[in-house]
Parts: sequence; C-alpha cells; structure tokens
Amino acid sequence: MKIAMLARNANLYSHKRLVEAAEARGHQIDVISTLRVTMNITSMKPEIYYGGEKLTGYDAVIPRIGVSITFFGLAVLRQFEMMGVYPLNESVAIGRSRDKLRSLQILARRGIGLPVTAFAHDPRKTDEVLSIVGGAPVVIKLLEGTQGIGVVLGETEKSAKSVIEAFRGANVDIMVQEFIKEAGNSDIRCFVVGGKVVASMERTGAPGDFRSNIHRGGSARPVRITPQERATAVEAAKAMGLNVCGVDILRSNHGPVVMEVNSSPGLEGIEGATGKDIATMIIEFMERDYGPGKVKTKGK
Ligand code: ADP
Ligand code: GLU
Repeated sequence: MKIAMLARNANLYSHKRLVEAAEARGHQIDVISTLRVTMNITSMKPEIYYGGEKLTGYDAVIPRIGVSITFFGLAVLRQFEMMGVYPLNESVAIGRSRDKLRSLQILARRGIGLPVTAFAHDPRKTDEVLSIVGGAPVVIKLLEGTQGIGVVLGETEKSAKSVIEAFRGANVDIMVQEFIKEAGNSDIRCFVVGGKVVASMERTGAPGDFRSNIHRGGSARPVRITPQERATAVEAAKAMGLNVCGVDILRSNHGPVVMEVNSSPGLEGIEGATGKDIATMIIEFMERDYGPGKVKTKGK
C-alpha cells in the first residue's frame, strides 16, 4: 500500500510506531503535516497539494488529527475520501467522536451503559441538572476539555454549584455526570481494532486524584476484562463507526459505563502496559480492510 498519515508531529511515539510497522510490512508511508496541506475543491476533481506538489496514488490514509485542529483536519480527510482514498477512520465517525454530547447520544440510542449525564445551557437550571444526576457528588466536565483538564469533582451540593457557576461565568459548555465512586480512581481503556478489543489496560489516578489520566500522573497496568466489558467496547466502536479507537470504561455498580470513545488513541500507554505490538495490528487490519469502494461516506 501507499499510505498517507495525517499527523502534525512525526516524532510522537504513536506516529513513529505506525511508520515503523508499515515499513516493516513493506508499505510506503508518508507523514503529511495536516496544517500544511492545500486543497482544491473544484467540482468533480478534488485535489490535495503539499509542499508545492499534488498528492496522488495513495491507497489509504491514517488520520491522526489532534483535537485542536479537528475542523481543518477533517476537511483534509474528507478531501482524501472524495479522491477515493481509504481512511482508517472515516471523517464522519471522527466528527461524531469529537462532540462529547453527540457521542453520548449515539451510545445511548444503542442502549450502551453510560454514566447518568445532564446538560443544560441555561444557567438558571443548575438545580435541575444536579437533581437529574441524583445530587452531589457529581463530576463536572468542560465539553471542550481533554486529558482530564476541565474535569472536576463536586463533592457537595454547594461546591458543585459553585463550580458550575464558575464555568458558566466563563461562558463555556459543561456537562454534569453522576460520580462513579466505586470505580476507585480507575478506568479501563479498551483498544479496539476492526471490531475486536486487541488490548486493555487499567489506569489508576495519582494518589488523591479521581482522574486516571496518564497525563495527570496516573499509572497503567494490563487488565483482564469481562465478556460484558468486551461487548460494551465493541458495541461502542460500532455505534460510532470507528475502526480503530480507545473506549474508556468505568466499572460501576450498574455494570460497565462508557465515558468516552477516542478516535486517535495513543499507542505508548497501551503498548507499554501490555507489551503488545498494536501498531502492527493496525497496519494488518488496513491490509485486510482497504480497497476500492470501501469509503462509505465519501466526505459527506
Ligand atoms: P478527558 O477526556 O479530559 O480525559 P474524561 O471524561 O475521560 O476526560 O475524565 C478524566 C478522568 O476522570 C477519567 O479517566 C476518570 O478516571 C475520571 N472520571 C471521569 N468521569 C467520571 C465519572 N463520572 N465518575 C468517576 N470518575 C470519572
Ligand atoms: N454525513 C452525516 C453528517 O455528518 C452523517 C451523520 C451521522 O450519521 O452521524 O451529518
């Protein structure tokens, strides 16, 4: 295959591993710096220019689009799709995953377990939002946040209200969730490739932090997941339409609940914790799945 990888930083662990794995299996892979692409959106003849040259002849594209450049990155990916290039994850599916509320609505529609979540725009609805999720303690999340930034625990009714009011004052959208205390500062990352969980790890927050993000000082270890957790992760990936994703699950009293589905999951944590060669599994999946007519949405 001739593969294009849309990525801003070729030196990130995940990106280096994907390049290594693709080359080891005899493919050509070029890292395209997403923001340096120019597109020609002429009728019937979509083109992409990069460094003064027209990009042609690609069989597949691996989108590694950072959250902060979602808007432009997805436009570039749609352009590849319009040219008939097979995307590892489709633009529409990545778009769904980047909208936290839309993602939860899609998962809810499929009957997938979720933390009870409330959302309102009107600041006068704070009491209503808190009562929907059963009162404090609650987790308050910035809709735009990543890596645990903007995820706050409101332990009492009073502290929850002041956090909500502070966020509202800053004019940012938030959602309020029941706090899954029994998860014990831990979550489970299930790494899904082509409809199968290929690896899973448990992440535990630094002492005193309920957030288990590695970026926040959390630690990871391999974990055995239950058949129900496996089925939940697979169903979540399917609902979102993602071939490759990280499904983050909390172990709650009412079964596994999905917190988030990440469409550009990092490889360093999961390969480090499990010793598995996930990069090669991704490339092997592409070898099986790519081909003409495999782009479903063609940039819709
Ligand atoms: P981000 O996308 O910024 O990583 P998350 O929604 O994944 O934010 O939350 C960060 C961490 O906070 C999670 O990994 C989890 O450990 C913890 N957390 C999030 N939501 C809840 C919740 N409802 N109950 C308990 N812990 C939670
Ligand atoms: N192309 C449609 C859109 O992005 C698909 C929506 C969907 O199925 O999520 O609006």
